[in-house]
Amino acid sequence: MSGLTQQTQQQMTQQNSQQEPQPQGSQNPSGHRKMSLAAQIFTALILAIIAGLLLQSHADFTVNYIKPFGTIFLNLIKFIVGPIVLFSIMAGVISLSDIRRLGSIGGITLVYYFFTTAGATTIGLFLANLFKAYFPVLSTSDLTYEVQKTESGPLDVLVNMFPSNFLSPIVDANMLQVIIMALFIGFAIILLGDKAKNAVNGINLWNEIFMKVMELILRLSPVGVFCLLCPVIAQNGSAVIGSLAKVLLVAYIAYAAHALIVYSLAVRTLGGMSPAAFFKGMMPAILFAFSSASSVGTLPINMDCTQKLGASKEVSSFVLPLGATINMDGTAIYQGVCAVFIASCYGISLTPSQMLTIVLTATLASIGTAGVPGSGMIMLSMVLASVGLPVDGIALVAGVDRIFDMGRTTLNITGDASCAIIVSHLLDKAAAKKKASK
Ligand code: ASP
Repeated sequence: MSGLTQQTQQQMTQQNSQQEPQPQGSQNPSGHRKMSLAAQIFTALILAIIAGLLLQSHADFTVNYIKPFGTIFLNLIKFIVGPIVLFSIMAGVISLSDIRRLGSIGGITLVYYFFTTAGATTIGLFLANLFKAYFPVLSTSDLTYEVQKTESGPLDVLVNMFPSNFLSPIVDANMLQVIIMALFIGFAIILLGDKAKNAVNGINLWNEIFMKVMELILRLSPVGVFCLLCPVIAQNGSAVIGSLAKVLLVAYIAYAAHALIVYSLAVRTLGGMSPAAFFKGMMPAILFAFSSASSVGTLPINMDCTQKLGASKEVSSFVLPLGATINMDGTAIYQGVCAVFIASCYGISLTPSQMLTIVLTATLASIGTAGVPGSGMIMLSMVLASVGLPVDGIALVAGVDRIFDMGRTTLNITGDASCAIIVSHLLDKAAAKKKASK
Protein backbone atom coordinates (compact mmCIF):
# COMPACT_ATOMS: atom_id res chain seq x y z
CA MET A 1 0.00 0.00 0.00
CA SER A 2 2.78 2.42 0.87
CA GLY A 3 4.38 1.88 -2.55
CA LEU A 4 1.05 2.52 -4.17
CA THR A 5 0.50 5.71 -2.26
CA GLN A 6 3.99 6.97 -2.85
CA GLN A 7 3.30 6.53 -6.53
CA THR A 8 -0.02 8.31 -6.06
CA GLN A 9 1.66 11.26 -4.43
CA GLN A 10 4.27 11.43 -7.17
CA GLN A 11 1.47 11.33 -9.74
CA MET A 12 -0.30 14.16 -7.97
CA THR A 13 2.83 16.26 -7.88
CA GLN A 14 3.46 15.58 -11.53
CA GLN A 15 -0.14 16.40 -12.39
CA ASN A 16 0.06 19.65 -10.52
CA SER A 17 3.25 20.61 -12.30
CA GLN A 18 1.58 19.86 -15.60
CA GLN A 19 -1.39 22.02 -14.71
CA GLU A 20 0.70 24.96 -13.78
CA PRO A 21 -0.04 27.74 -16.27
CA GLN A 22 3.04 29.60 -17.49
CA PRO A 23 3.65 32.61 -15.29
CA GLN A 24 5.56 34.43 -18.00
CA GLY A 25 4.42 35.46 -21.47
CA SER A 26 5.09 32.70 -23.99
CA GLN A 27 6.24 32.66 -27.58
CA ASN A 28 3.66 31.70 -30.24
CA PRO A 29 4.62 29.92 -33.51
CA SER A 30 4.80 33.20 -35.44
CA GLY A 31 7.46 34.39 -33.03
CA HIS A 32 5.32 37.07 -31.35
CA ARG A 33 5.33 37.12 -27.58
CA LYS A 34 1.92 36.18 -26.23
CA MET A 35 0.65 38.06 -23.21
CA SER A 36 0.59 35.94 -20.05
CA LEU A 37 -2.84 35.18 -18.61
CA ALA A 38 -2.12 37.44 -15.65
CA ALA A 39 -1.29 40.33 -17.98
CA GLN A 40 -4.43 39.63 -20.01
CA ILE A 41 -6.58 39.66 -16.88
CA PHE A 42 -4.98 42.85 -15.67
CA THR A 43 -5.54 44.47 -19.07
CA ALA A 44 -9.16 43.29 -18.99
CA LEU A 45 -9.53 44.90 -15.56
CA ILE A 46 -8.20 48.25 -16.78
CA LEU A 47 -10.36 48.10 -19.93
CA ALA A 48 -13.44 47.19 -17.85
CA ILE A 49 -12.84 50.19 -15.59
CA ILE A 50 -12.38 52.54 -18.56
CA ALA A 51 -15.38 51.12 -20.46
CA GLY A 52 -17.50 51.08 -17.29
CA LEU A 53 -16.74 54.73 -16.55
CA LEU A 54 -17.45 55.72 -20.18
CA LEU A 55 -20.73 53.77 -20.19
CA GLN A 56 -22.05 55.15 -16.90
CA SER A 57 -24.94 56.80 -18.72
CA HIS A 58 -25.68 53.54 -20.56
CA ALA A 59 -25.64 51.23 -17.56
CA ASP A 60 -28.68 49.32 -18.89
CA PHE A 61 -26.80 48.44 -22.06
CA THR A 62 -23.91 46.97 -20.06
CA VAL A 63 -26.33 44.92 -17.95
CA ASN A 64 -28.29 43.60 -20.93
CA TYR A 65 -25.50 42.96 -23.42
CA ILE A 66 -22.18 42.66 -21.58
CA LYS A 67 -23.10 41.08 -18.25
CA PRO A 68 -24.62 37.88 -19.77
CA PHE A 69 -21.16 36.83 -21.00
CA GLY A 70 -19.83 37.35 -17.50
CA THR A 71 -22.69 35.21 -16.22
CA ILE A 72 -21.64 32.43 -18.60
CA PHE A 73 -18.11 32.59 -17.13
CA LEU A 74 -19.53 32.43 -13.60
CA ASN A 75 -21.77 29.51 -14.51
CA LEU A 76 -18.71 27.65 -15.73
CA ILE A 77 -16.95 28.32 -12.42
CA LYS A 78 -19.99 27.07 -10.49
CA PHE A 79 -20.12 24.00 -12.73
CA ILE A 80 -16.52 22.99 -12.10
CA VAL A 81 -16.21 23.69 -8.38
CA GLY A 82 -18.14 20.57 -7.27
CA PRO A 83 -16.08 18.00 -9.21
CA ILE A 84 -12.85 19.82 -8.34
CA VAL A 85 -13.58 19.67 -4.61
CA LEU A 86 -14.77 16.07 -4.75
CA PHE A 87 -11.82 14.70 -6.71
CA SER A 88 -9.01 16.81 -5.29
CA ILE A 89 -10.01 15.97 -1.72
CA MET A 90 -10.37 12.27 -2.51
CA ALA A 91 -6.92 12.36 -4.15
CA GLY A 92 -5.54 14.22 -1.13
CA VAL A 93 -7.00 11.72 1.34
CA ILE A 94 -5.69 8.77 -0.65
CA SER A 95 -2.20 10.20 -0.31
CA LEU A 96 -2.75 10.20 3.48
CA SER A 97 -1.77 6.56 3.74
CA ASP A 98 1.76 7.83 3.32
CA ILE A 99 1.17 9.82 6.43
CA ARG A 100 0.34 6.64 8.29
CA ARG A 101 3.63 5.19 7.16
CA LEU A 102 5.49 8.27 8.13
CA GLY A 103 3.62 8.30 11.44
CA SER A 104 4.89 11.16 13.52
CA ILE A 105 5.88 13.37 10.56
CA GLY A 106 2.37 13.14 9.17
CA GLY A 107 0.69 13.68 12.54
CA ILE A 108 2.56 16.87 13.41
CA THR A 109 2.24 18.15 9.83
CA LEU A 110 -1.53 17.71 9.70
CA VAL A 111 -2.13 19.27 13.12
CA TYR A 112 0.12 22.23 12.24
CA TYR A 113 -1.50 22.71 8.83
CA PHE A 114 -5.00 22.56 10.26
CA PHE A 115 -4.47 24.99 13.13
CA THR A 116 -2.43 27.54 11.17
CA THR A 117 -5.04 27.58 8.39
CA ALA A 118 -7.95 27.94 10.82
CA GLY A 119 -5.95 30.72 12.55
CA ALA A 120 -5.33 32.37 9.18
CA THR A 121 -9.04 32.50 8.33
CA THR A 122 -9.77 33.90 11.78
CA ILE A 123 -7.14 36.65 11.31
CA GLY A 124 -8.60 37.42 7.87
CA LEU A 125 -12.15 37.64 9.22
CA PHE A 126 -11.06 39.68 12.24
CA LEU A 127 -9.18 42.29 10.19
CA ALA A 128 -11.88 42.44 7.50
CA ASN A 129 -14.49 43.08 10.19
CA LEU A 130 -12.25 45.72 11.74
CA PHE A 131 -12.04 47.58 8.42
CA LYS A 132 -15.61 46.78 7.36
CA ALA A 133 -16.73 50.34 7.86
CA TYR A 134 -14.49 51.35 4.92
CA PHE A 135 -16.06 48.85 2.53
CA PRO A 136 -18.86 50.19 0.33
CA VAL A 137 -22.48 49.12 0.25
CA LEU A 138 -23.35 48.97 -3.43
CA SER A 139 -26.91 50.01 -3.89
CA THR A 140 -27.89 49.01 -7.40
CA SER A 141 -30.86 46.80 -8.05
CA ASP A 142 -28.46 44.29 -9.53
CA LEU A 143 -26.75 43.73 -6.21
CA THR A 144 -29.87 43.55 -4.08
CA TYR A 145 -29.77 40.29 -2.29
CA GLU A 146 -31.73 38.53 0.40
CA VAL A 147 -29.72 36.51 2.92
CA GLN A 148 -30.68 32.89 2.54
CA LYS A 149 -31.34 31.91 6.11
CA THR A 150 -31.44 28.18 6.34
CA GLU A 151 -30.32 27.24 9.83
CA SER A 152 -32.72 27.43 12.72
CA GLY A 153 -31.15 25.40 15.55
CA PRO A 154 -27.63 25.93 16.95
CA LEU A 155 -26.41 22.58 15.65
CA ASP A 156 -28.03 22.82 12.22
CA VAL A 157 -24.72 23.85 10.62
CA LEU A 158 -23.27 20.57 11.86
CA VAL A 159 -26.30 18.49 10.88
CA ASN A 160 -26.39 20.05 7.40
CA MET A 161 -22.78 19.08 6.77
CA PHE A 162 -23.77 15.43 6.42
CA PRO A 163 -25.45 14.39 3.17
CA SER A 164 -28.57 12.24 3.27
CA ASN A 165 -28.36 11.47 -0.42
CA PHE A 166 -25.47 10.47 -2.66
CA LEU A 167 -26.17 12.90 -5.51
CA SER A 168 -27.68 15.93 -3.81
CA PRO A 169 -24.37 17.40 -2.53
CA ILE A 170 -23.18 17.81 -6.13
CA VAL A 171 -26.60 18.71 -7.56
CA ASP A 172 -27.21 21.34 -4.84
CA ALA A 173 -23.54 22.44 -4.88
CA ASN A 174 -23.43 21.90 -1.12
CA MET A 175 -19.67 21.97 -0.70
CA LEU A 176 -19.45 20.95 2.95
CA GLN A 177 -21.42 17.84 2.08
CA VAL A 178 -19.21 17.23 -0.97
CA ILE A 179 -16.16 17.38 1.31
CA ILE A 180 -17.65 14.93 3.82
CA MET A 181 -18.52 12.59 0.95
CA ALA A 182 -14.96 12.87 -0.44
CA LEU A 183 -13.46 12.15 3.00
CA PHE A 184 -15.57 8.99 3.45
CA ILE A 185 -14.80 7.65 -0.01
CA GLY A 186 -11.10 8.52 0.35
CA PHE A 187 -10.79 6.73 3.70
CA ALA A 188 -12.67 3.70 2.37
CA ILE A 189 -10.18 3.49 -0.49
CA ILE A 190 -7.26 3.60 1.95
CA LEU A 191 -8.84 0.85 4.05
CA LEU A 192 -9.35 -1.35 0.98
CA GLY A 193 -5.62 -1.17 0.23
CA ASP A 194 -4.33 -2.71 -2.99
CA LYS A 195 -7.80 -3.93 -3.91
CA ALA A 196 -8.70 -0.30 -4.66
CA LYS A 197 -5.64 0.32 -6.84
CA ASN A 198 -7.78 0.95 -9.93
CA ALA A 199 -9.95 3.41 -8.01
CA VAL A 200 -6.81 5.30 -6.96
CA ASN A 201 -5.65 5.54 -10.56
CA GLY A 202 -9.16 6.49 -11.71
CA ILE A 203 -9.55 9.22 -9.09
CA ASN A 204 -6.14 10.68 -9.89
CA LEU A 205 -6.98 10.66 -13.58
CA TRP A 206 -10.37 12.33 -13.07
CA ASN A 207 -8.74 14.81 -10.74
CA GLU A 208 -6.35 15.67 -13.54
CA ILE A 209 -9.17 15.93 -16.07
CA PHE A 210 -11.21 18.31 -13.93
CA MET A 211 -8.10 20.37 -13.18
CA LYS A 212 -7.59 20.67 -16.93
CA VAL A 213 -11.21 21.81 -17.34
CA MET A 214 -10.58 24.36 -14.60
CA GLU A 215 -7.48 25.57 -16.43
CA LEU A 216 -9.52 25.99 -19.62
CA ILE A 217 -12.19 27.94 -17.76
CA LEU A 218 -9.54 30.12 -16.17
CA ARG A 219 -8.24 30.95 -19.64
CA LEU A 220 -11.58 32.69 -20.21
CA SER A 221 -10.98 34.89 -17.17
CA PRO A 222 -9.96 38.01 -19.13
CA VAL A 223 -13.29 38.01 -21.01
CA GLY A 224 -15.16 36.97 -17.86
CA VAL A 225 -13.54 39.70 -15.78
CA PHE A 226 -14.27 42.36 -18.38
CA CYS A 227 -17.92 41.34 -18.78
CA LEU A 228 -18.50 41.06 -15.05
CA LEU A 229 -16.73 44.21 -13.96
CA CYS A 230 -17.76 46.62 -16.71
CA PRO A 231 -21.50 46.66 -15.74
CA VAL A 232 -20.62 46.94 -12.04
CA ILE A 233 -18.42 49.99 -12.72
CA ALA A 234 -21.02 51.47 -15.06
CA GLN A 235 -23.60 51.19 -12.29
CA ASN A 236 -21.44 52.07 -9.28
CA GLY A 237 -18.67 54.20 -10.70
CA SER A 238 -15.65 55.06 -8.64
CA ALA A 239 -17.02 53.59 -5.37
CA VAL A 240 -15.95 50.16 -6.58
CA ILE A 241 -12.45 51.16 -7.72
CA GLY A 242 -11.59 52.75 -4.39
CA SER A 243 -13.01 49.79 -2.50
CA LEU A 244 -10.79 47.33 -4.40
CA ALA A 245 -7.70 49.13 -3.13
CA LYS A 246 -9.11 48.92 0.40
CA VAL A 247 -9.90 45.21 0.31
CA LEU A 248 -6.46 44.46 -1.17
CA LEU A 249 -4.81 46.46 1.59
CA VAL A 250 -6.76 44.57 4.26
CA ALA A 251 -5.75 41.21 2.74
CA TYR A 252 -2.07 42.21 2.61
CA ILE A 253 -2.15 43.45 6.22
CA ALA A 254 -3.61 40.06 7.21
CA TYR A 255 -0.99 38.14 5.17
CA ALA A 256 1.79 40.13 6.86
CA ALA A 257 0.25 39.74 10.33
CA HIS A 258 -0.04 35.99 9.91
CA ALA A 259 3.57 35.63 8.71
CA LEU A 260 5.04 37.95 11.32
CA ILE A 261 3.01 36.67 14.28
CA VAL A 262 2.10 33.02 13.64
CA TYR A 263 5.12 31.82 11.62
CA SER A 264 7.64 33.88 13.61
CA LEU A 265 6.31 32.50 16.89
CA ALA A 266 6.10 28.97 15.52
CA VAL A 267 9.64 28.81 14.09
CA ARG A 268 11.04 30.46 17.22
CA THR A 269 9.25 28.28 19.80
CA LEU A 270 8.79 24.98 17.95
CA GLY A 271 11.48 25.21 15.28
CA GLY A 272 14.37 26.58 17.39
CA MET A 273 15.19 29.19 14.73
CA SER A 274 15.23 32.97 14.74
CA PRO A 275 12.41 34.37 12.58
CA ALA A 276 14.87 36.77 10.90
CA ALA A 277 17.06 33.83 9.79
CA PHE A 278 13.97 31.97 8.60
CA PHE A 279 12.59 34.79 6.44
CA LYS A 280 16.08 35.65 5.11
CA GLY A 281 16.73 32.04 4.10
CA MET A 282 13.28 31.82 2.51
CA MET A 283 13.70 34.97 0.40
CA PRO A 284 14.39 33.21 -2.96
CA ALA A 285 11.27 31.02 -2.57
CA ILE A 286 9.21 34.00 -1.35
CA LEU A 287 10.17 36.08 -4.39
CA PHE A 288 9.50 33.21 -6.78
CA ALA A 289 6.09 32.50 -5.21
CA PHE A 290 5.18 36.18 -5.38
CA SER A 291 5.93 36.42 -9.09
CA SER A 292 4.65 33.00 -10.17
CA ALA A 293 1.54 32.75 -7.92
CA SER A 294 2.00 28.98 -7.86
CA SER A 295 2.83 26.91 -4.77
CA VAL A 296 3.52 23.87 -6.90
CA GLY A 297 5.80 25.81 -9.23
CA THR A 298 7.71 27.09 -6.19
CA LEU A 299 8.14 23.58 -4.75
CA PRO A 300 11.71 22.85 -5.95
CA ILE A 301 13.05 26.21 -4.80
CA ASN A 302 11.15 25.89 -1.49
CA MET A 303 12.79 22.49 -0.90
CA ASP A 304 16.17 23.98 -1.59
CA CYS A 305 15.60 26.91 0.80
CA THR A 306 14.26 24.78 3.67
CA GLN A 307 17.08 22.24 3.33
CA LYS A 308 19.64 25.05 3.38
CA LEU A 309 17.89 26.30 6.53
CA GLY A 310 18.45 22.89 8.15
CA ALA A 311 15.29 20.86 7.43
CA SER A 312 16.08 17.22 6.64
CA LYS A 313 15.56 16.00 3.09
CA GLU A 314 13.22 13.25 4.31
CA VAL A 315 10.96 15.76 6.06
CA SER A 316 10.97 18.50 3.43
CA SER A 317 10.32 16.10 0.56
CA PHE A 318 7.18 14.90 2.33
CA VAL A 319 5.92 18.01 4.13
CA LEU A 320 6.35 20.46 1.24
CA PRO A 321 4.57 18.57 -1.60
CA LEU A 322 1.73 17.78 0.82
CA GLY A 323 1.61 21.43 1.87
CA ALA A 324 1.56 22.63 -1.74
CA THR A 325 -1.53 20.45 -2.18
CA ILE A 326 -3.45 20.92 1.07
CA ASN A 327 -2.02 23.81 3.12
CA MET A 328 -3.04 27.29 1.97
CA ASP A 329 -3.04 29.86 4.77
CA GLY A 330 -2.88 32.81 2.38
CA THR A 331 -5.81 31.45 0.41
CA ALA A 332 -7.81 30.99 3.63
CA ILE A 333 -7.13 34.63 4.63
CA TYR A 334 -8.14 35.84 1.17
CA GLN A 335 -11.39 33.89 1.38
CA GLY A 336 -12.22 35.27 4.82
CA VAL A 337 -11.48 38.86 3.78
CA CYS A 338 -13.37 38.57 0.48
CA ALA A 339 -16.40 36.95 2.15
CA VAL A 340 -16.74 39.92 4.51
CA PHE A 341 -16.07 42.38 1.68
CA ILE A 342 -18.65 40.82 -0.63
CA ALA A 343 -21.22 40.54 2.17
CA SER A 344 -20.63 44.17 2.97
CA CYS A 345 -21.07 45.23 -0.68
CA TYR A 346 -24.45 43.49 -0.67
CA GLY A 347 -25.36 45.19 2.61
CA ILE A 348 -25.27 41.91 4.54
CA SER A 349 -23.90 41.58 8.06
CA LEU A 350 -22.51 38.14 8.73
CA THR A 351 -23.77 36.41 11.88
CA PRO A 352 -21.33 34.68 14.30
CA SER A 353 -22.56 31.29 13.09
CA GLN A 354 -21.89 32.30 9.47
CA MET A 355 -18.37 33.43 10.50
CA LEU A 356 -17.77 30.05 12.10
CA THR A 357 -18.94 28.33 8.94
CA ILE A 358 -16.53 30.49 6.93
CA VAL A 359 -13.60 29.46 9.19
CA LEU A 360 -14.55 25.82 8.72
CA THR A 361 -15.23 26.00 4.97
CA ALA A 362 -12.20 28.15 4.16
CA THR A 363 -9.99 25.74 6.10
CA LEU A 364 -11.43 22.79 4.21
CA ALA A 365 -11.49 24.71 0.91
CA SER A 366 -7.77 25.35 1.22
CA ILE A 367 -7.28 21.57 1.21
CA GLY A 368 -9.11 21.40 -2.10
CA THR A 369 -7.27 24.35 -3.64
CA ALA A 370 -4.66 23.38 -6.22
CA GLY A 371 -1.32 25.12 -5.90
CA VAL A 372 -1.66 26.91 -9.23
CA PRO A 373 -2.57 30.50 -10.08
CA GLY A 374 -6.20 31.46 -9.67
CA SER A 375 -7.55 28.32 -8.03
CA GLY A 376 -8.26 30.10 -4.73
CA MET A 377 -10.80 32.28 -6.54
CA ILE A 378 -12.67 29.18 -7.72
CA MET A 379 -12.79 27.94 -4.14
CA LEU A 380 -14.10 31.31 -2.97
CA SER A 381 -17.39 30.42 -4.63
CA MET A 382 -17.64 27.43 -2.28
CA VAL A 383 -17.00 29.58 0.79
CA LEU A 384 -19.60 32.13 -0.32
CA ALA A 385 -22.15 29.42 -1.10
CA SER A 386 -21.62 27.78 2.30
CA VAL A 387 -23.06 30.82 4.08
CA GLY A 388 -25.65 31.69 1.46
CA LEU A 389 -23.74 34.66 0.03
CA PRO A 390 -24.17 35.37 -3.70
CA VAL A 391 -21.47 33.71 -5.78
CA ASP A 392 -21.85 36.57 -8.28
CA GLY A 393 -20.01 38.71 -5.73
CA ILE A 394 -16.77 37.18 -7.03
CA ALA A 395 -17.13 39.65 -9.91
CA LEU A 396 -16.24 42.42 -7.50
CA VAL A 397 -12.83 40.98 -6.67
CA ALA A 398 -12.03 38.86 -9.74
CA GLY A 399 -10.35 41.68 -11.63
CA VAL A 400 -7.60 42.03 -9.05
CA ASP A 401 -7.39 38.33 -8.21
CA ARG A 402 -3.80 38.10 -9.42
CA ILE A 403 -2.72 40.76 -6.92
CA PHE A 404 -4.45 38.84 -4.10
CA ASP A 405 -2.94 35.63 -5.48
CA MET A 406 0.67 36.83 -5.41
CA GLY A 407 0.41 37.57 -1.71
CA ARG A 408 -1.59 34.49 -0.77
CA THR A 409 0.78 32.14 -2.62
CA THR A 410 3.75 33.72 -0.83
CA LEU A 411 2.08 33.02 2.49
CA ASN A 412 1.05 29.53 1.40
CA ILE A 413 4.61 28.39 0.68
CA THR A 414 6.05 30.16 3.74
CA GLY A 415 3.58 28.21 5.89
CA ASP A 416 4.69 24.94 4.31
CA ALA A 417 8.34 25.83 4.88
CA SER A 418 7.77 26.77 8.54
CA CYS A 419 6.19 23.34 9.03
CA ALA A 420 9.20 21.57 7.46
CA ILE A 421 11.58 23.45 9.80
CA ILE A 422 9.43 22.65 12.85
CA VAL A 423 8.87 18.96 12.09
CA SER A 424 12.57 18.50 11.36
CA HIS A 425 13.57 20.23 14.57
CA LEU A 426 11.09 18.27 16.70
CA LEU A 427 12.22 14.95 15.21
CA ASP A 428 15.89 15.84 15.76
CA LYS A 429 15.12 16.75 19.36
CA ALA A 430 13.22 13.49 19.93
CA ALA A 431 16.06 11.47 18.37
CA ALA A 432 18.65 13.25 20.52
CA LYS A 433 16.56 12.60 23.63
CA LYS A 434 16.24 8.93 22.75
CA LYS A 435 19.99 8.67 22.18
CA ALA A 436 20.74 10.38 25.47
CA SER A 437 18.44 8.07 27.44
CA LYS A 438 20.17 4.95 26.07
N1 ASP B 1 -2.14 30.36 -6.33
C1 ASP B 1 -2.26 29.76 -5.03
C2 ASP B 1 -1.13 28.80 -4.77
O1 ASP B 1 -0.55 28.31 -5.70
C3 ASP B 1 -3.58 29.07 -4.84
C4 ASP B 1 -4.69 30.08 -4.86
O2 ASP B 1 -5.13 30.48 -5.94
O3 ASP B 1 -5.11 30.51 -3.78
O4 ASP B 1 -0.82 28.53 -3.64
